[in-house]
Amino acid sequence: MTPDSSPLARQPQVEAIVDLDAIAHNVGILRTHAGSADVLVVVKADAYNHGAYEVAKTALAAGATAIGVTTVAEAVALREAGIGAPILCWLNTPDADFAAAVRADIEIGVASTEHLRAVAAAARAVGEAATVSVKVDTGLNRNGASPHEYPHLLDELVTLARQGTVRLRAIFSHLAVADEPHNPTNDLQRDRFIEAVDAAKARGLTPELVHLANSAATLTRPDLHFDLVRPGIAVYGLTPVPDIGDFGLIPAMTVRARVALVKEVAAGEGVSYGHEWTAERDTTVALLPIGYADGLPRALGGKFEVLLGGARRPSIGRVCMDQVVVDLGPDAGGVAAGDEAVLFGSGKNGEPTAQDWATTLGTIHYEVVTGIRGRVVRNYVGGAAE
Ligand SMILES: *Cc1c(COP(=O)(O)O)cnc(C)c1O
Repeated sequence: MTPDSSPLARQPQVEAIVDLDAIAHNVGILRTHAGSADVLVVVKADAYNHGAYEVAKTALAAGATAIGVTTVAEAVALREAGIGAPILCWLNTPDADFAAAVRADIEIGVASTEHLRAVAAAARAVGEAATVSVKVDTGLNRNGASPHEYPHLLDELVTLARQGTVRLRAIFSHLAVADEPHNPTNDLQRDRFIEAVDAAKARGLTPELVHLANSAATLTRPDLHFDLVRPGIAVYGLTPVPDIGDFGLIPAMTVRARVALVKEVAAGEGVSYGHEWTAERDTTVALLPIGYADGLPRALGGKFEVLLGGARRPSIGRVCMDQVVVDLGPDAGGVAAGDEAVLFGSGKNGEPTAQDWATTLGTIHYEVVTGIRGRVVRNYVGGAAE
């Protein structure tokens, strides 16, 4: 998405509006659930497509104490933008620009001896100690040091910490099935995590923090909170456990498109490529200038609704690259070109939600909000934007 830098710009055709007050509200809910644990807000992937800098700033003002991202580049960009809080990044190739991370005082997640050595080399080159957090694999079997690698990583860390080349900030791990709070794998990962922390302490290492919980565990498993929780999706107002509840979270992103054209379609006429939809009666349709190139999935064609002119209007026919058509019914419902159609939002005004799209698509709302792109212009309401 393109950030809209000009406040005087004509209202965009297609817009993603991010409500920073909703972000602050959601951080407040997460802090309440976190209890005595601190809150690190995950703003990877440009804050799940909500804008990393704006979300980080808003979340810190709302009481979060740290920021998490994936890569060194994301972390350094936030530091350069003026985020002063601790920033952790946790997924980098061993040849990443760790020197830039050290210079910007970024906490670097390491998952292997190779990573740690690369970070140490960067620290020596810069002439400052690197701050590292050890990512240990407790059962996700994705990122994180494997049970075989972990003892070697700790041994190397002991040496480097003694030399003053690196400083150990934290030991952390990531859950595989936190969205199923009662799944025994959560207990297994907790037990393995505690063992991993003990193994570090047995070597004389003293992590300042240990952390394990994502959004789902923050909201449903207080026994997994440790010193700090790392929510991502819940910050954006989307519940990580839709079957359990929404915890009072408010979805922060609203996607809307302005009607480009209203026209009549006669009974028997087909609409859009392939004529997959045919008018059963004379009707009126609205053309919306958003398509699959903008993150409206083609698989949703004929399977979603928009809120337009005070009512839900069904999409008809195929979603094209740049456009989609909705049926207004014979009287057009007073809809005119330029009117706003809401594709998804918080749901509080009767509009569909990202969860509705996810359910229809057989995916998760994470993919829906991160998929909005192309010509969609992102704007902010609430928070520091006002
Ligand atoms: C993405 C991520 C999170 C946040 O997960 P959510 O399910 O969005 O809360 C936390 N920790 C790590 C390591 C992650 O990669």
